[in-house]
Amino acid sequence: MAKAKKVTRVVKAPVSVVTGGAGFLGSHLVDLLLSKGHKVIAIDNLVTGSVDNIAHLAGSNYFRFIQQDVTEFLFLDSPVDYVWHFASPASPVDYLELPIQTLKVGSLGTHKALGLAKEKGARFLIASTSETYGDPLVHPQTEEYWGNVNTIGPRGCYDEAKRFAEAMTMAYHRQHKMETRIVRIFNTYGPRMRLRDGRVVPAFISQALKNRPVTVFGEGQQTRSFCYCADLIEGIYRLMMSDYPLPVNIGNPHEMTMLDFARQIVKITGSKSRIIHKPLPQDDPKQRRPDITKAKQLLKWEPQVPFAEGMRRTIEYFKPRV
Ligand code: UDP
Repeated sequence: MAKAKKVTRVVKAPVSVVTGGAGFLGSHLVDLLLSKGHKVIAIDNLVTGSVDNIAHLAGSNYFRFIQQDVTEFLFLDSPVDYVWHFASPASPVDYLELPIQTLKVGSLGTHKALGLAKEKGARFLIASTSETYGDPLVHPQTEEYWGNVNTIGPRGCYDEAKRFAEAMTMAYHRQHKMETRIVRIFNTYGPRMRLRDGRVVPAFISQALKNRPVTVFGEGQQTRSFCYCADLIEGIYRLMMSDYPLPVNIGNPHEMTMLDFARQIVKITGSKSRIIHKPLPQDDPKQRRPDITKAKQLLKWEPQVPFAEGMRRTIEYFKPRV
């Protein structure tokens, strides 16, 4: 009797492209995708990203890095299942210094990344932002709120680039019937933030660790709500794997004033720093807190890492680097 033929089923690893893959959030996303068995191609021009964030992946058969500006034509010979468009300067100091690159990566870069996803039949996710709400007049911010943005102000280059990116994503979804996702990312912190990117978390931590004055802008009554990076990336992964094409806020609703935040950082680090005040930058949003009802319902997601624990991990990361 003939022996039954043994059938071996080859399960192919999904392939993900992450633009901005050497950045703070991009590199955490790359790590999560690799842990889920994806093959990952990271693209980054290293303007604000750093190879230090992906150095631990060198030699992995599942990881490839391409140094390229995503506003230029993207050619890849391999199949692609998911495109995650994370490339962009993201701190106010960075996008004030790089307003044209910021506008280009949000517009031309999004167009190229969508084009790549269309060509490959891949699902696409745009990393959008709470800045699409501008200086919000609705609190907390729900996805239905259209925002209050000064198009010609100093933050306009970032806010409008991301708003354009959302519009472009929806146009591809409607016109080309593509599978697309939009995540609106609120303030996020954690290891791999650049020490000198000007954002409040690295600024306060490095000032406190060096016992230098902690610089609160304005009276410090403006609020932010900080999400630990691992929580955020998990929420974004769930959104990509969901079937929901409209924007979803991902962030931590734990809101605090910047003055309170400064006091807490001084306390946690055991610093001798005093708190000083500096002028409030133009158009600095006064209040920011995500309404995450949608993420809870659709993705069964909410932040897990308590503020004290997230800060402890972040401070540990910064200690040898200040
Ligand atoms: N901020 C501050 N001191 C600093 C840096 C920032 O008080 O050294 C304030 C800033 O004015 C804003 C908040 O902290 O109200 C968050 O600023 P960040 O640059 O981190 O990001 P944003 O949420 O404004 O995009």
